[in-house]
Amino acid sequence: MYKTGIVWLSNDLRLTDNKLLADASRDCESLLVVYIRESASLKPNRYGFRSLGKLRRKFIDECLSDLNRNLTSLGSELFLMEGSTLTCLQTLIGQNRPDVFYCATQSGFYENDIVQFIRRSYPELRLVESAHTALLDQTQLPFLLADIPKSFTQFRKKVEPIILDSEFIDTLKNNTPSSLPKQPQKPTLFSGNTVPFSADLSFLNDASKTEPAIIFGGETHAQQYLKHYFSNNYASTYKQTRNELDGIYHSTKFSPWLSQGCMSPKQILKTLVTFEQNHGANESTYWIKFELLWREYFFWLAKVLGKSLYLRGGYRHKNPLKSFYPQRLKSWCSGTTPYPLVNACMTELNTTGYLSNRGRQIVASCLVNEFDVDWRYGAAYFEQQLIDYDVASNWGNWQYIAGVGVDPRGGRHFDIDKQQRLYDPENRYCKRWLGEHGSKYSNSAITDYVDAADWPLE
Ligand SMILES: Cc1cc2nc3c(=O)[nH]c(=O)nc-3n(C[C@H](O)[C@H](O)[C@H](O)COP(=O)(O)OP(=O)(O)OC[C@H]3O[C@@H](n4cnc5c(N)ncnc54)[C@H](O)[C@@H]3O)c2cc1C
Repeated sequence: MYKTGIVWLSNDLRLTDNKLLADASRDCESLLVVYIRESASLKPNRYGFRSLGKLRRKFIDECLSDLNRNLTSLGSELFLMEGSTLTCLQTLIGQNRPDVFYCATQSGFYENDIVQFIRRSYPELRLVESAHTALLDQTQLPFLLADIPKSFTQFRKKVEPIILDSEFIDTLKNNTPSSLPKQPQKPTLFSGNTVPFSADLSFLNDASKTEPAIIFGGETHAQQYLKHYFSNNYASTYKQTRNELDGIYHSTKFSPWLSQGCMSPKQILKTLVTFEQNHGANESTYWIKFELLWREYFFWLAKVLGKSLYLRGGYRHKNPLKSFYPQRLKSWCSGTTPYPLVNACMTELNTTGYLSNRGRQIVASCLVNEFDVDWRYGAAYFEQQLIDYDVASNWGNWQYIAGVGVDPRGGRHFDIDKQQRLYDPENRYCKRWLGEHGSKYSNSAITDYVDAADWPLE
């Protein structure tokens, strides 16, 4: 039994299927549960965007308020802090002198660097990591991480048999704490850095709502939505509808909650398997597992790639000759390009923080292939805008489209007119986001100029 523990929650904002909280509740006499909002994410980065935009910030605030409420019901509390993540953690460790430190396995280079720094700096501190934001733990992978397959197909063939095994689903058991240890006698927190919870959760208590609203942060809502999705028959037609640009249930819409860890991929898999037992398995239900494996692949791949995830040459160390055209980038971000379909997609992204997978592929291809802009600007803009931003899936997918990633075909170039004919033949999607005449809107006169002052610093 440890006297004091600290759990650092990041993208695992839930109580259920949370191995860290379950272990800590069993092994610690007192426990501090903390979340840190990285202050650097609120300032413009090297691409001129913020890593944390307004829409995701609101979503995360809802997640945190909900988690605090749920932790309180188990006798604990969430400490919410804002500052440099590393400095906050160092101060917490220095002042509270814990015996054990729990955190999720991080796939992003910078986040992982923080964990490794703590491991090196406090050799006497026991550090417990859990890859519970992914399906598998590193020890369950059927290869050494450094030997991760070079294509998704090879990865899937090796990993799929493990996750389809019924025993695997049983590992979900025992990963939910039923109560939590009290906080340390006098938890020492530097009060300047603790911040109040700001989200309004009254929505959750509104009995007049019969269907869960799609995008509202927090585990309570996520678990309701998971149940709702599988108590209908949407999963049985997923494969036929998943590529649509529009339509709430045309794809699962699990991604915002998955990205903050309000639901775990294992919970989805378990609910899906139960759905298959009750309603029958088909190609569509299988395809949800297939997509979760894509997520899994990007998660582990990002860990192996380290910094290369963010480098122009990417996984392939190729250096595509791209330039920086501020006007093109600006028109792409604001949805005022010569392509109505791209404009509609960017307007949806800017308004809601969500965009279908098809929409993401189309706009990413447009930036890279039509506008010849360095793909990292697109990835950084998505990072700012998406409410489901996930470091591994975002930068991994961008690399893939830009032809510097794990795509065996070496990149994807989408014919925008063809995509419009296939996915929006009646202009409904464009009209929805651009207005009745918006679909005819065209700003073909993009003035390309490059002023030295516009070039970003490397
Ligand atoms: C350029 C680009 C950037 C992207 N950035 C992100 C991101 O930041 N965060 C994110 O979660 N997804 C990202 N994706 C992947 C995908 O577009 C979204 O996961 C999906 O649109 C989310 O909607 P959904 O939950 O309804 O997906 P569904 O179609 O219902 O899929 C179910 C789940 O499978 C996973 N999944 C599906 N497709 C992919 C994929 N191509 N790569 C990885 N996982 C996948 C997601 O977790 C998703 O929630 C990106 C794709 C592209 C092309």
